[in-house]
Parts: sequence; C-alpha cells; structure tokens
Amino acid sequence: MSQIKQRLLKIKSQIRHAEFATGREKGSVQLLAVSKTKPASDIVIAYQAGQRLFGESYLQEALQKQQALAGFDITWHFIGPIQSNKTKAIATNFSWVHSVDRLKIAKRLSEQRPDYLPALNICLQVNISHEETKAGVTLEQLPALIDEVRQLPKICLRGVMAIPEPNTEFERQCQPYRSLYQAVKSLDLIELDCFSFGMTGDLKAAIAEGSTIVRIGTALFGERSYK
Ligand SMILES: *Cc1c(COP(=O)(O)O)cnc(C)c1O
Repeated sequence: MSQIKQRLLKIKSQIRHAEFATGREKGSVQLLAVSKTKPASDIVIAYQAGQRLFGESYLQEALQKQQALAGFDITWHFIGPIQSNKTKAIATNFSWVHSVDRLKIAKRLSEQRPDYLPALNICLQVNISHEETKAGVTLEQLPALIDEVRQLPKICLRGVMAIPEPNTEFERQCQPYRSLYQAVKSLDLIELDCFSFGMTGDLKAAIAEGSTIVRIGTALFGERSYK
C-alpha cells in the first residue's frame, strides 16, 4: 500500500475516533486534503484511495493541477490568501473558498462567479488569536461582514475558517475555536453550518470544538518544501 493511502486511512480513523471521543456525530467531520506544493500524482494516489475534497493555496499551481486532473470528480477548495486580481480565476475554478476576509473580495467573487455555475460556497476567515500578521477579520467585525456577504447573489455563505496560533497544549488549542464557534452560533443563522477548523497539529481539539471540515496537509502528503 502506498504511504499516502496508509496515511489517509490513519487520518480518517483519527477523525472517526475524535468524533466518538468528543461526542460528535459519526461522519459529521469531513476531510479536506491540502495538496499545496505537492504534485498532481500525489492527488491521484489519494483520489484512488477515495479522497474527493482537495485544498490549494496558490492559484497558479492549483490551476495547473486542475488542468492535469480534468475529468476527475474532485471538489476544489481555495484556502490561500486572495489578492483582487485573482478573484476571477478563483470564482471560475473552485467550488469553495475558505479564506475570504473582506467585503471587497466577496463582492468580486460574487460578480465574477460564472452564471453557469451554482453560487460559490465561502467561509469567512477569522483571526481568532489576534495575530498582527495573520489574515482574517476580528470577532468584533465578523457579524457586520456576515450581514453583508449573505446578501451577495452568487455567494453561498457557509461558515467560518480559522488558523489559530500554533500551540501544543490541548486545552489552549481548544479555546480559540470555542470562542469562535460560540460567537457564530449566537447569531442563530442556520445556513452557517461549516466550521473549517483544524490542521495536522490540532485536529482533535478542532473536532472537539465543532469542526465540520479539517484541512490536513502534512499528515497526509508529508512535509512541504517550498522552492
Ligand atoms: C497549508 C494549510 C493547511 C495544512 O496544514 P498542515 O499543518 O500541513 O496540515 C491547512 N489550512 C491552511 C489554510 C493552509 O494554508
């Protein structure tokens, strides 16, 4: 069995185990395979092992892989930083975007989403650790942004995404996700059903705090080397 297939099975079992251990419904957490910097051939191996959701952060790289894998039944998620000049290609080539953090970008994605495609699913990225360098709106700004983004015609606002400051301690990993989850739930908007929480280092904490989709790169495809 290939290493990627072995790792995929292991991660899926970790997800099922965390669902069970934290009282979550079985199957309530999806796996997004984060394939940034990895070749299309790695995606094919994961695909053959049953994986269908893939996440990419760099547009040019993603478009090349999409072209190489045309015809595969893959749902592509964009999870990287978004500059205005990239919105058209993102709106055209992805089903989901997790990293929207301002109205201007959401508006462009809505305007540029082709008519022949359904509304683009998006999550708003929230900066829950208040890190200066991290993208994302603050918890305070979130309700106003949700209000405006919900009204865009070719956008289907699905929820929130967060990348907290790395921490090795379980309880500290949980805390920022918990605050964000509660803030969103308190808005009482049933269409916000997606919590894009959790990466290789904090999968269990994220699931304990309500994640519905974990974004896993390293544990699946190995360490990344940036050229
Ligand atoms: C790269 C990346 C991931 C995957 O992180 P790992 O620690 O390798 O699992 C998840 N989310 C985002 C937004 C990323 O950029």
